[in-house]
Amino acid sequence: MAATPLYKTQELKIYNSLSSEKEVFIPITEGNIGMYVCGPTVYSNVHLGNCRTFISFDLVFRYLKHLGYKVRYVRNITDAGHLENDADEGEDKVAKKARIEQLEPMEIVQRYTLDFHNILAKFNNIPPSIEPTATGHIVEQIEIIKTIIDNGYAYVVNGSVYFDVKKFNETKEYGKLSGRNLEDMIANTRELNAQSDKKNPQDFALWKNAEPKHIMRWPSPWGDGFPGWHLECTVMSTKYLGEKFDIHGGGMDLKFPHHECEIAQGEAACGVTPVNYWMHANMLTLDGKKMSKSTGNILSPAEIFSGESDKLNKAFAPTVARFFMLQAHYRSILDFSNDALEASEKGFYKLMESIGALENLKTSATTEGFNIQNWIQECYDAMNDDFNSPILIAKLFEAVKFINSVKEDKASISTEDLNALKTKINEFVFDVLGLVNTNEASSDISDKLSGTVELLINLRAEARANKDFATSDKIRDELQEMGIQLKDGREGTSFTLN
Ligand code: AMP
Ligand code: ZN
Repeated sequence: MAATPLYKTQELKIYNSLSSEKEVFIPITEGNIGMYVCGPTVYSNVHLGNCRTFISFDLVFRYLKHLGYKVRYVRNITDAGHLENDADEGEDKVAKKARIEQLEPMEIVQRYTLDFHNILAKFNNIPPSIEPTATGHIVEQIEIIKTIIDNGYAYVVNGSVYFDVKKFNETKEYGKLSGRNLEDMIANTRELNAQSDKKNPQDFALWKNAEPKHIMRWPSPWGDGFPGWHLECTVMSTKYLGEKFDIHGGGMDLKFPHHECEIAQGEAACGVTPVNYWMHANMLTLDGKKMSKSTGNILSPAEIFSGESDKLNKAFAPTVARFFMLQAHYRSILDFSNDALEASEKGFYKLMESIGALENLKTSATTEGFNIQNWIQECYDAMNDDFNSPILIAKLFEAVKFINSVKEDKASISTEDLNALKTKINEFVFDVLGLVNTNEASSDISDKLSGTVELLINLRAEARANKDFATSDKIRDELQEMGIQLKDGREGTSFTLN
């Protein structure tokens, strides 16, 4: 007989942005979950802030799978229709980059989609089950626009189609996710731009007529044009997950207008509200300000992995950066700093060392000084409480403390408990948190290799002190060729493996 899935015995609560409350999670179909997360607009390299949001949802995906659910995780690629300033006017972000770099828009899309996949793989994110693109779903977008027009919630002007927010709000509620009220929004907006075709500034584009210079264009019943950014997510989520599905996620900054518009489109097209649980991940900040491509206040994953930034004293392994992010709850703002990352690194290696020590831990007839079964349930309680990874990590450090006590003969563990502890620590650390044991690389042999590199670093320092730059450059360059990169910092030279 198959084992009972964990979700039958664990009660998961999710903070639902729609109700602003933690709610017991009940999927539409028992044992199955449909989850949609807004993916990146692929016109530039992902920054660490973007990565945080995708790591937050990777944690959610991993925990749901761990609980035994069959999860269909859909995360789109926005490769058309996302205009500058997230507005309804202006240049397409992808087309603009293509113009600047003198490339085809699809070359831009390909380049940055590959970067996105590559970086998320470094962070050990599990790929989604389906990764649809906006340009691959133009036909479906046109079909859903026709339905919204037929249902009376959209109008056509000069080859563009706009969602009629006032009409929608007569019978439904626009603003319920972000807690805004349409009358207030109208009262707070200035006069409608005379150039605009919209009846009302709150209306948003479902389809935009393409001016002759707009190169990303498709034929439609309203003339050549391109789809609105909000629409693609409605189309791709409902196509693969149904008119109503369990979880929709994205960064906090997408709550309004993007997700508000998705709700309106879904309700206007299908007559049902599309999502049961809305989840929003909070922002990564740098120097207290949101990491954002548009302001340039960003750190790139490549800078973290190489240490090549004046914000960093050294390089950090991707899994250390992941651990740092998971030490904050996904709904809290997290400020990035070199010192915080260094503190996480220390904790991370302590945890890995302890996991290594479990292999050779002495067992006794009884366990004393720790209640393993209680501890296991407390770990689940942390994750069941809206995926509280910082509390889970604190619980893992309680286990580290106990393991150290056993090593020092101040506590004891039975064989049965040791097996249970090993299984659960491994499940929580590697399956749920998705960390990677880079300490395996510090097993005996690599300790010796690190020692060798340190020796070369010292020889290079001596050569430089003697102004023998030919030797010092040779050491650096040849190590570089082998994939070992030296970085000179304030506290001496460190190295990273490429
Ligand atoms: P974009 O490609 O700009 O649409 O962003 C992709 C995802 O990254 C969205 O879910 C954003 O909410 C998220 N995001 C952007 N900036 C940050 C940040 N500083 N911290 C966390 N998530 C972010
Ligand atoms: Zn979206």
